[in-house]
Amino acid sequence: MPYSNTVLYATSLTQAGGALLTAAVLHGLSRYHASTDYLRHWTRSWLALAVHLLYGAGASVLADAYGPAHPAAIAFAAVAAAAGYVQIGWLLLGAYELTTGGTVARHSGQRIFIALALIGAATSVPFVWDPAADGERFVFRVGIRAATVGTSFFAAAYGIWHSHVRAHELGPRLVSAAFVAYAVEQLHLFALGAITLGTGRPVSYADYVGMVDFLIQFAIGLGLVIWLLEAERQVAATAAAQVERLAYHDVLTGLPNRQLFLDRLRLAIAHARRAGTKLAIFYFDLDRFKTINDSLGHRAGDRLLQIVGERLTNLLRAEDTVARLGGDEFTLLSPFVEHVEDAVAIARRVREAVKAPLTLEGRELFVTTSLGISFYPDDGDDAEMLLKHADVALYRAKAAGRDTFELYTASMNAQALEQLVLESSLRRALENGELVMHYQPIISLDSGRISGVEALLRWHHPELGLLGPDNFIFLAEVTGLIVPIGEWVLRDACTQLRRWQLAGRRDLRTAVNLSVRQLQQSNFVNRVARVIDETGIAPQCLELEITESIAMHTADGTLETLRDLKRLGVRISVDDFGTGYSSLSALRLFPVDALKIDRSFVRDVLVRDYSVRDALGEDGGVRAPPAVDNTAIATAVIALAHSLNLDVVAEGVETDRQLDFLRERQCDAWQGYLYSRPLPADAMERILG
Ligand code: C2E
Ligand code: MG
Ligand code: MG
Repeated sequence: MPYSNTVLYATSLTQAGGALLTAAVLHGLSRYHASTDYLRHWTRSWLALAVHLLYGAGASVLADAYGPAHPAAIAFAAVAAAAGYVQIGWLLLGAYELTTGGTVARHSGQRIFIALALIGAATSVPFVWDPAADGERFVFRVGIRAATVGTSFFAAAYGIWHSHVRAHELGPRLVSAAFVAYAVEQLHLFALGAITLGTGRPVSYADYVGMVDFLIQFAIGLGLVIWLLEAERQVAATAAAQVERLAYHDVLTGLPNRQLFLDRLRLAIAHARRAGTKLAIFYFDLDRFKTINDSLGHRAGDRLLQIVGERLTNLLRAEDTVARLGGDEFTLLSPFVEHVEDAVAIARRVREAVKAPLTLEGRELFVTTSLGISFYPDDGDDAEMLLKHADVALYRAKAAGRDTFELYTASMNAQALEQLVLESSLRRALENGELVMHYQPIISLDSGRISGVEALLRWHHPELGLLGPDNFIFLAEVTGLIVPIGEWVLRDACTQLRRWQLAGRRDLRTAVNLSVRQLQQSNFVNRVARVIDETGIAPQCLELEITESIAMHTADGTLETLRDLKRLGVRISVDDFGTGYSSLSALRLFPVDALKIDRSFVRDVLVRDYSVRDALGEDGGVRAPPAVDNTAIATAVIALAHSLNLDVVAEGVETDRQLDFLRERQCDAWQGYLYSRPLPADAMERILG
């Protein structure tokens, strides 16, 4: 066996070993990048290379022993050549997918590979029967493939360099560089083949090129190992970042959680203390979030929180932190807020951002928010204190009627005290007879006569004078005082009704407002029954008004209570209809008799043909037209309510035009200042005549 052949076999075998190793590394890499096929393609490419080298060596051994035309030698050469071309196919396929991010359809891929294998096998056949045509054989077997491999590796190097595997990382760079070197080496091999063919003499060092080849393969393998390590590090780093995110962020909205917020707040306080600057903390939640959650479901509630989170994030300056503390509670930390006006401007922006209409489960909603604001250093000098004070201010904002904000003031603690005082005076109000009922007539549109009255609560406060329910119902609800007060209201209104009925208004009805707290009492139905019994009114003369959000509050047995009330014979109406989230079709499920269209809808009716007469107020001043026109909504509500056999009562009618409109739409009854304001019982009696 000639010495050069021994070298050739030895290098071939070593190269094959190298190729197998490279394939193993590639396989490892592909496990870290589960979603990338290119690494799998390259694993196959290097396996094919190993086959190519092993069979190539085998073919040489056989050719040396039996001559190149021996069938076994030809078969080995054919397999080697086929594998050599398949190797190029896999390499290019991988490079293609790496650069373009696309994938090649399986069946077209298969066809290409069969074609490549056949072409490869074909290159091993020419000149095998011509012992003198060594050079030609070399060109066909090695030269053409070398040229193709050279070009392919150039392409693959280009692919890596320009792909997302980021050329600035060492591994991919090294691999890419080694690919270029390999391409040059293979093209060089091709040139040698051409020279051999031209001169008829093999170039003396041709057999040793295999050594260089081996070195380059080693570089490729090394590059891949580095690439693998880098990928591994990347995975670990991503995982660590994720763990960190989970610990300090809210999963639902992706916002910082309480922990991170307090952390940043402490940092900001330390900073502000040193720099002598101020910072503002906003504490806020969504008004009536619970109602939305209960009526539209938790998924919708979650989505709402996400939307709010996104809106808040878009609102932020780089130095601000917005966090979700839990539930519907959010906080915002704004450093460098020097003036109260700046904080107010931020609060307004938050309010507007939350308020923008949004669609949930196919419904358009308007969500409002209330905010409490505290300042460092004015309102406290540690994070917990500032947060607590912002929360106190939030509570005040809620008490002030929602969709608003309050700045914390030291007097708020005093106000909290005041609230306590008001609370205890409200407790006494009942015993001291300071509560009185006022009545507003409800007029039937058919007959034009008063068909009933609505009982509306007033408080003759010894120092503050006559207070409307907006001033104290909230407090009564928070403290639970609404339960005894509500019972008193019911009894008083029914007693008064009985008096009027005995005085001749036999068919007069009275409407009494209920609070959700009353409905939640377990014996509420019995209490109502007892009042009816004791006052001697007919149950159908009593109408109980529940607000829309209560009506939709199907949880905790409300629906069952309403059904029991219905069985007693009392009427039930839905108050302030249109301000909540219920749909008319959902109302079908509720045992209600009437809808009261909220006065905001009545007010904004017929706005479009707003006339000169409307523009001039009573005082002769010019009034701007309201911003929205609810004509269509009011019309639709009336029509749909009628289709559900419900009576419709319009609230807050103040002008003849509104009344004409309601008459035209066949609304059943109305109440409003146009006829009368709510009046004390004796004044009401005079109207009843
Ligand atoms: P509501 O049940 O929707 O009562 C109608 C409110 O509209 C009353 O306010 C009434 O004075 C006012 N109003 C009537 N006509 C007009 C009008 O033409 N223009 C305008 N701008 N307003 C009109 P009020 O008496 O201040 O009561 C406010 C709310 O307090 C009531 O709204 C009701 O939800 C609640 N409330 C009143 N009394 C009670 C009660 O005894 N128990 C409970 N739980 N809530 C009550
Ligand atoms: Mg009412
Ligand atoms: Mg109302």
